[in-house]
Amino acid sequence: MAGAMPGVPGRRGPVGIIGAGPAGARAAELLAAGGWEVLLFDPKAPWEKPCGGGIPAHGFIHFPELRELEGRGRWARRARLIGPDGAELVVETGAPILLVDRRILSAYQLGRAEVAGARRVRCRILDVTRAEHGWRLSGDDGRAYDVAYLIGADGATSRMRRLLAPDFRPRLTPTRGRFVPVGAGADPEIVVWFPPDFRGYVWEFPRGRMWSVGVCHLDHGVGKSRLEGVLGEHVAARGGSMEHRVYGHPIPLPNPGDYDRPEWFGGEDWALCGDAAALVDPISGEGIHHALRSGQLAARALLETGSLAAYRGFLAAEVLPELRKAAEYASRFYERGFVEALLRVCGRGRRMRGVLADVMTGLQSYRTLRLRTAWAYVLDGFPAPSTLVPLVKFFR
Ligand SMILES: Cc1cc2nc3c(=O)[nH]c(=O)nc-3n(C[C@H](O)[C@H](O)[C@H](O)COP(=O)(O)OP(=O)(O)OC[C@H]3O[C@@H](n4cnc5c(N)ncnc54)[C@H](O)[C@@H]3O)c2cc1C
Repeated sequence: MAGAMPGVPGRRGPVGIIGAGPAGARAAELLAAGGWEVLLFDPKAPWEKPCGGGIPAHGFIHFPELRELEGRGRWARRARLIGPDGAELVVETGAPILLVDRRILSAYQLGRAEVAGARRVRCRILDVTRAEHGWRLSGDDGRAYDVAYLIGADGATSRMRRLLAPDFRPRLTPTRGRFVPVGAGADPEIVVWFPPDFRGYVWEFPRGRMWSVGVCHLDHGVGKSRLEGVLGEHVAARGGSMEHRVYGHPIPLPNPGDYDRPEWFGGEDWALCGDAAALVDPISGEGIHHALRSGQLAARALLETGSLAAYRGFLAAEVLPELRKAAEYASRFYERGFVEALLRVCGRGRRMRGVLADVMTGLQSYRTLRLRTAWAYVLDGFPAPSTLVPLVKFFR
């Protein structure tokens, strides 16, 4: 191995950030802008990560700069939800959802981090060990890098998670999809199908140049052929073709109790962010916003306190309560009859439809969902009374 990296005079750190996805690039940008020396490791960014690329409206509240991507993605304001019984519901979301190719998001964020002063190192980190003043990182370029702080933002299958918090083992749930090239004039309608007897859903996300059409399942261990079968059924029903670029990538979902182990998310001089920390909405699979948020909180800990010790407290206060509630609901979402009841009641009640739209755009918190739903149900005049039992069971 060649020698360790020297520090940059006048800058604090260095901080080694493993992974330049939304979490790592966001942390890198903020820290570099705040005067820290940042080494941002990633062998392939910017790249087209297998993803829907959907950024709901709440993303723009916390990260208004994302509006700069407006001309490079596509805004969706309507979603067509298809239930297990074939019933359809069209939801006008009000607030838009930005659908963007991940290569574009990746290049945008990486660019911002580099402009702020982060140093990009194009290599994969293979190992981390304790060093006298922090950490020694071993890259696949044969070099060693000494850093004072370590931020693991290396995605769902995170090597950093395995090394730093070996007992933290989220479920790696499978996805399968296709990138479908489309013309600029295509209708930006999101389509979601909930197949019968299937704990997951199929999506069509009409992004900029390439649509993302895919399927996810909540359970670890569901085979490729099952996913391909369900996806093929949907694509055939929509008159499309499966002859496009295939993708598959896991979504990390927490096990019960994972979010109650603060010591798994970071320590004095290390932190796990984004997918590496399983910060994903377990109902929708949405993780870009939580990745950005956690990267921001790790940076905030260093900028405000000079240590990463505060990070897990920030996470516990600002991110985990919402995801914990989402995880509770996720376990009931696919219980028999719930999705059918949801679509029926939202089809009949304007306010109920508004609640659903706000959940989809992230404007409605899961923590206050029960109360708002109860009000909407009453104000809508108890629409579709047969839905009451499944709704009560869901919110029990
Ligand atoms: C099929 C699918 C569809 C999805 N759709 C949506 C959606 O529509 N909206 C949404 O919000 N979320 C969606 N998600 C989730 C979203 O993709 C992730 O939550 C988000 O990308 C997490 O960001 P991250 O920065 O934590 O990790 P990533 O974006 O995965 O970035 C991790 C980075 O780390 C790098 N890396 C990995 N290992 C190393 C290493 N050893 N050394 C150096 N670098 C390394 C990788 O190259 C990568 O660039 C989807 C996920 C999947 C799988």
